Amino acid sequence: MDKKKNDTFVVAIEDMSDEGAGIGRQDGYIWFIKDTVIGDLVEASVMKTKKSYGFARLVKILRPSSDRIQPPCPVARQCGGCQLQAMSYEAQLKFKEHKAYNNLVRIGGFDDLVRVERDETEESRGEEKKESPRFLPIMGMDHPWRYRNKAQFPFGTDKEGNLVTGFYAGRTHTIIPQEDCLLGVEENGQVLKIIKEFMGQNRIKAYDEQRHEGLVRHVLIRKGFRTGQIMVCLVINGREIPRADRLVKGLIQVKGMTSVSISVNTEKTNVIMGTEIVNLYGPGYIEDYIGNIKYQISPLSFYQVNPEQTEKLYKTALEYAGLTGSEAVWDLYCGIGTISLFLAQKAKQVYGVEIIPQAIDDARQNAAVNGIDNVEFFVGKAEEVLPREYERGHIRADVIVVDPPRKGCDTKCLDTIVAMEPERVVYVSCDSATLARDLRYLCDRGYEVRKVRCCDMFGWGVHVETVVMLSHKKPDSVINVKVEFGEGEGKVPLDNIAKRAAAYKPKERVTYKMIKEYIEAKYGFKVHTAYIAEVKRELGLPMYDASNAEEELKQLRKHPTTEKVEAIKDALKYFGMT
Ligand code: SAH
Repeated sequence: MDKKKNDTFVVAIEDMSDEGAGIGRQDGYIWFIKDTVIGDLVEASVMKTKKSYGFARLVKILRPSSDRIQPPCPVARQCGGCQLQAMSYEAQLKFKEHKAYNNLVRIGGFDDLVRVERDETEESRGEEKKESPRFLPIMGMDHPWRYRNKAQFPFGTDKEGNLVTGFYAGRTHTIIPQEDCLLGVEENGQVLKIIKEFMGQNRIKAYDEQRHEGLVRHVLIRKGFRTGQIMVCLVINGREIPRADRLVKGLIQVKGMTSVSISVNTEKTNVIMGTEIVNLYGPGYIEDYIGNIKYQISPLSFYQVNPEQTEKLYKTALEYAGLTGSEAVWDLYCGIGTISLFLAQKAKQVYGVEIIPQAIDDARQNAAVNGIDNVEFFVGKAEEVLPREYERGHIRADVIVVDPPRKGCDTKCLDTIVAMEPERVVYVSCDSATLARDLRYLCDRGYEVRKVRCCDMFGWGVHVETVVMLSHKKPDSVINVKVEFGEGEGKVPLDNIAKRAAAYKPKERVTYKMIKEYIEAKYGFKVHTAYIAEVKRELGLPMYDASNAEEELKQLRKHPTTEKVEAIKDALKYFGMT
C-alpha cells in the first residue's frame, strides 16, 4: 500500500463490516469507510493504514448505491447509533441475511444450506425429513421506527449554561441536544420537556461529570409495547428531588404514565443506574406482554428492547422446539426467563439457567405472576450447572434451547448437550460468527442443522438475531436421504458428503445401559443386553447398537423369563420407545 495520510482515492463499496462501515477493495487491500453503503462509488481520503487494511473518510459520493437513502434522522452521522441509516430498510434486511448466511457457510462450512423464499413457519413436522438444511427468509419489522421501548437520556449544561439533554456524540461524553430519537417512543420528547421545565422552574441543576456536582444525571424512560404503560426514573446525584410532588403532577399528564421513581447514584462513575430505587408514584414497575406472558418491569430489570420482534423470534424458537407437552426442556442463558416461560406453556418441565442472580429473581417472579409452576431456575454458568445436573442423573433433556451472549457457548456446555442427546437443540444467537462455530461443533458430534431463520430486532443498526433448529441424527433418517452429487445449486459436492460421513456417528438416544439401570433400580435385578435386544426385536423396534447383543444371544441360547420381559417392556415404555 503506497498511500499516505489524506491521499484521496476512488473505490467501490462491496461489503459492510460488522460495525456497519462500508468495505472497498483495491488489489486485495481492504478499506473501511464509514457512512458508505454497499453499491456506492466513493471518493475517500486516507486516515490510517495497516499492512492489509486501512481506514478512510468519505469525501464524496460519486455514484450513489440504488439502496442509498437520505438518513431520516438529522443527527444520524454524529450519533453513530444507527450504522445503517443511509440504507433502505429492505436493503438492510438483505444485508443482515447475507451476513448470517455467509458466516454459516464460511465459518461453519454449511455449504448445503438451501435458501428458501417462502415462509415455512406453518409446515408440518413430517416435511422436516427433507435432507438439506433450509435458510428461511428474515423476519423484518412491519414498522422499523419507534420500536425501542427503553431510552436513557443524559442531562448536562452547554457552554451558555443552558440545560441540555440528548445523546452522547459517538464515544465521547459531549451531549448533542436531540430529544426525539426516531427509534424511541413518541412520549420521550414529551417527558423530557416536562422534566426540563420542572428543573428550570425549581432551579435544579443537571449533573456535571467533571466537578461531580449538580443533581440530575440521566432519565430512563420505558414503555410497555402492549399495555402502553410508561415509567420514568430520574437518576440523581443525591437522595431526593426538591418539590418532587410538582414533578409527579407534571409527568402524570402524559398518557400511560404508571410509575415515577428516582435512582440514587452518588458515585463518580460511568455506570448509569444506581442500585437504590425510591418510588415517587405508582407501583414501581410497569407491565408488558410478550405473547400471552405478562412481565413486571422495574427500572433495573433486563427486558428485550424490541418486544414485537422478540415475540416473533421466540415464537419461532418455540415452533422449532417442536413440543408436544411431554418434554423436559432446558433454556440455557435464560435471562429473566422470557423463553423459559414461553416454552413452559407447551412442555412438561422447563429448567432455566442464568448467571445473573437478579435476572433469576425476575424470572421466578414472572413465573409466579403468570401462575406457571413447571419451571425451575438455576443461578450459575450454563457450562457448570448443566454438567452438574446431568451428572447427578435423573434429569432428562428432550429439547435444549440456548440463547448465549455474543461470545457463544462454552465447549463444556456444548459437550454436555452432546452427551445428553436431546432430540432437538434450538440455538438463538445474536452473533452469527460464533453461531456458525458452535453449530459446526454440534454437527460434528451427532447433530444436524434443519432450519435457520434471522429476525431483525434492531432496525438501522447492524446486529441481527438468528434462530436455528438442530436435530439429533437418527440412523433411520439417513437411509432416506436423496442427494444429487456434483456441483451446482441444490447439489451436494462429493467432498461435502465425505465430511458429513465423517461427522456422522450413529447414536441411539436411549441406551441399553439406561434400560438396565432403570430395571435394576425399579425391580432389583439385572437384565442381559441380549434380552433387551430380543424384546425390542419382538416389538419391532429399531436395533441400531445391538449387533454384539445378537451374538451374545446366540451364545446364551436362552430366553428371558416373563418377569424380565415385563420389566424390559416397562423400561422401554418409560423411555418413550413403545
Ligand atoms: N434469553 C434471554 C436473554 C439472553 S441474553 C431473554 O430472552 O431474556 C444472554 C444471557 O446470558 C444474559 O442474560 C447473560 O447474563 C447470560 N449469561 C452470560 N454468560 C452466561 C453463562 N456462562 N451462563 C449462563 N448465563 C450466562
